[in-house]
Amino acid sequence: SPTLVWFRRDFRLDDNGALAAAAEKGGPVVPVFILDPDVDQLGAAPAWRLEQAIEHFGAVLEGMGSRLILRRGKALDMLRDLVAETGAGAVHWNRYYQPQVVARDREVKAALKEDGLEACSFDGMVLRDPWEVRTQSGDPYRVYSPFWKSLRGMDIPAPRDPPGALPAPDTWPESERLADWGLGGAMNRGAEIVAGHARIGEAAARDRLDEFLDGSVARYAADRNRLDRPDATSGLSEPLAWGEISPRRIFHTVQGRDAAGTKGAEKFLSELGWRDFAWHIHHSFPALAEENWSDGWDNFPWREENDDAEAWQRGLTGEEMVDAAMRELYVTGRMHNRARMLVASYLTKHYLVHWRVGLRWFEHCLIDWDPASNGMGWQWVAGSGPDAAPYFRVFNPALQAEKFDPKGSYRRLYLDPEADGANAFLRAVPRSWGLGEGARPDTPRISLKDGRDRALGAYEAMKSGR
Ligand code: FAD
Repeated sequence: SPTLVWFRRDFRLDDNGALAAAAEKGGPVVPVFILDPDVDQLGAAPAWRLEQAIEHFGAVLEGMGSRLILRRGKALDMLRDLVAETGAGAVHWNRYYQPQVVARDREVKAALKEDGLEACSFDGMVLRDPWEVRTQSGDPYRVYSPFWKSLRGMDIPAPRDPPGALPAPDTWPESERLADWGLGGAMNRGAEIVAGHARIGEAAARDRLDEFLDGSVARYAADRNRLDRPDATSGLSEPLAWGEISPRRIFHTVQGRDAAGTKGAEKFLSELGWRDFAWHIHHSFPALAEENWSDGWDNFPWREENDDAEAWQRGLTGEEMVDAAMRELYVTGRMHNRARMLVASYLTKHYLVHWRVGLRWFEHCLIDWDPASNGMGWQWVAGSGPDAAPYFRVFNPALQAEKFDPKGSYRRLYLDPEADGANAFLRAVPRSWGLGEGARPDTPRISLKDGRDRALGAYEAMKSGR
């Protein structure tokens, strides 16, 4: 009987445990994607990027004589319908550790088993499952370095080969039309511009990995923080977020190259380790995107949405580095890691705005949106997170600019109306944003010194319980 393979954030043929196991059975395989309103509440850019991923992967499957069947509704109901329509005896999927997905999947698995079906979930979205990496006393890690040391010492399972063939069922069940879901609809600010920066699909991800390992990895340790060298990092967070490449494939590809063991390659793998760490933490602390991870922070005098936060979102703070980075985010759906830290620091420290406000804006704008890395990143910078930067470490945008954008090319790209990227930016933003030449304030809304002093004062007050 057919096996349903339920795709979620794993739009790939390669190293796909659920798909490989279904194909090995030799019977028909029915690939499905279900848009489940209970868990798929996505911001504008991630929703648009999901649409791209589905469209692309559907075409890849069609090229193999298969299909991607689309349904919208409660996952369990949809799966039961598809089982009834196809006579499937098994449902396979790859685990995704977002807490609401974990809870839903647990219910789905129990219910399908009660129906007498084989319901199997597979690993592979991280290097090792979150519960496999444990301290000596058997607890989850709270600090990255020992976590990575432990994970780096473990065997990382070899990636599974892509299936040679995906036998089709005698008749295909009906599929909904992707266009009817309108996933890209909220990208009203010019999806075509973001599209110029996105890399969609498994083949593009593998090409980028090869290109990176043949080139930039050699200078990765030295250049990864350089805002003016965008190719210095891999850019793989986007395909990783949608499962178009597997972290284990990346790990073993690095290990199989000449670069293996070099400073650049080890640094790169350790960054991949931060992704695992984020999921490790999110698994043990499901409220990572909503609540302070560290004790004491609930009393911090955060400010909520306000004019400052809005100026930050629009790239109108008057602080060049911050404004350039926020515009990079809006135009490309991406932002350099150094810039993410910088703008997060500026919002939560110079503006004292709650990290959740920034987290939600990133969730709306990022095409590599990943709930664990985003939650951890925001709390890490704000000071409330695991293994956080000490609160007194307030990023100084001017010094960061000197170090990481010394000639100003990154800033010019997004702030100079004559530069190519900036024109694209001005075309992409809604008119209501009031952006244009001269719209940025000449002086920042708050000086670097005053913002820093105010933040440190608030922190001292929190610590002393005033
Ligand atoms: P590379 O330097 O090539 O690194 C390789 C891979 O390692 C990345 O693709 C990524 O998977 C992982 N990685 C690198 N740095 C980190 C990190 N700090 N945390 C977790 N994983 C990391 N990353 C996301 O994928 N999605 C997010 O929504 C996200 N939100 C963030 C929010 C904030 C406030 C901060 C400070 C960081 C956030 N990050 C997020 C982490 C990081 O900025 C991006 O993963 C990185 O910029 C991706 O670029 P790259 O693929 O070229 O990275």
